[in-house]
This record gives sequence, structure tokens and C-alpha cells, in this order.
Amino acid sequence: MKYQIVVNRKLESFGQFVTEGRDEINTTMINGEDRPFIFGTKLRAVERRTIMNRVRNVLENNCYLKVHERGGASGISGLCMSCPACYLFGGTYAPKTGERVQVNERTKVNYSEAYPFVGGGIRDVTFNAVDEQRAITGQALGVNQIVEPRDFINVVDLETDNEDWVKLLVWGIEHSNRYGANVRIYGQMKNEILGVIKSDKLKVTSYNLVSNFKSAEEIEEHLQKVYNKNLVKINVSDDKIETLIKNLQNTPEVKELAKRKSDADNKKYKE
Ligand SMILES: [Zn+2]
Repeated sequence: MKYQIVVNRKLESFGQFVTEGRDEINTTMINGEDRPFIFGTKLRAVERRTIMNRVRNVLENNCYLKVHERGGASGISGLCMSCPACYLFGGTYAPKTGERVQVNERTKVNYSEAYPFVGGGIRDVTFNAVDEQRAITGQALGVNQIVEPRDFINVVDLETDNEDWVKLLVWGIEHSNRYGANVRIYGQMKNEILGVIKSDKLKVTSYNLVSNFKSAEEIEEHLQKVYNKNLVKINVSDDKIETLIKNLQNTPEVKELAKRKSDADNKKYKE
């Protein structure tokens, strides 16, 4: 089955949602307005880390997300490829020596871009060089763009026949609260699930929802009215998450992934 988690991402402070190597906010035209938006990959990385943290806490495994960007090529390493987070988000593992049999796992989760209901609200902030010895502020180094608080609508798609995976993902979304660049200052968010649609095909997109509705309340009403039969209640309280993660670790899909990983490692030591 396909699940679509419709999320209202309420930006409660200023946000700095820029792409690496650029200091400008990404915008797109919706209903004739230039609106700032957040790339789905940026939301995904935060929520993946939230889930990995909790999985490490419960399973005491060694699984980290290290992102490299070197000479234009980007890569990820540090994944254990044997845990629920690795199964859900997918990844690649290659032993460093031996036959180098790669383990590839596709992602089960797809994040859409997150779009707001309103355009504008982008401000320039200059950042300065500070001469610490003389304690004076130096010349302006450059300009960062930040966006004013507002709601962003985003849809996360997940394909699975075991609803526990949806629970884990919803828990991760609800327990993440800092996004974008410079998270010590910017990007405080509160995520609110507007509805989870279960169906054999994908029903909604974030772009369509923000094009046709004016607020999160309107979207919630629309989901209740049109997809009533397809809406599922997904609840996972904090005291249930530990058991949920342990159960997912014992599913056939995670065991199969872990076996492929350990086979790759064994080949490594064979010679
Ligand atoms: Zn892992």
C-alpha cells in the first residue's frame, strides 16, 4: 500500500533555507506569486537523523549519516545497513577491501518540496567579520537570506504493507524541530500531521494543495471530506517507540538487509 503523510510545517522563527554554495532562498511561482520553498531533501535529512538517533539509543548499533561533498561528487557513509533506519531511508555500503561487493538499498520514503500559502517575506541579513582581538566588528562579509515565519505544506510518501513503518516515520516527523542552515539561530519548526492517506495510488501533491487552498485548516477539511475512507489514524507515543523499533528490527525485510550486509563483509575477509 501507499501512504501519504500530509504535514503542516509551521516555521516559528526566521528560517534560512538555502542550497549549498548559494546564500539565496529558493523560490517558485505559485498562483502568480514568487514563494520561498524548502527542498524535500533538507527535511528528509533532519528526520532521518532524528530516527537514527532513537534507533541507536534503542539498539546500540553503530549507524551514522556522514555526508561528503568533494569535488562536485557527493556521497554518504557511516550507515550500518542493518537497522530499521537504513531499511526505511535506503543507502549504499561498500567494504573498503576484498571483493568490494556493494550493498544497495532503495529508499521507501519520498519527500516533496514544502510550499507556503503566501509569497514574499524574504529578508537580507548581512553577516560581519568580527576581529576578536580588537573586539570590533569588521567589514560586512556578505548577505544571507532568511524567510519570515509561516506555514509550509509538504507531503511524504511511503510504500509498505506494514503500518509500523508509517508509525516510525510519523514519530520522526513529530520529533524533529530544527531545519535549514544555521539551526542555532534559525529554522525552528513545529510539525503537525494534517492527515495520513492510505491508498493503492498517490492522491495528493504539496504543490496542488497550496495552489488550491489558503490555510492548513482548509487542507485538513478537504482531506476529511474527500479522502475520508482513506484516512488512517497513526499514533505512536514515546513509551511505545522502543518496542516499535525492536519489532521492526526483527521484520523479514530488515533481517534480509542485514544478511546482505554481513555477506558483503564476509567476502571482504575471505581472501
Ligand atoms: Zn543503520
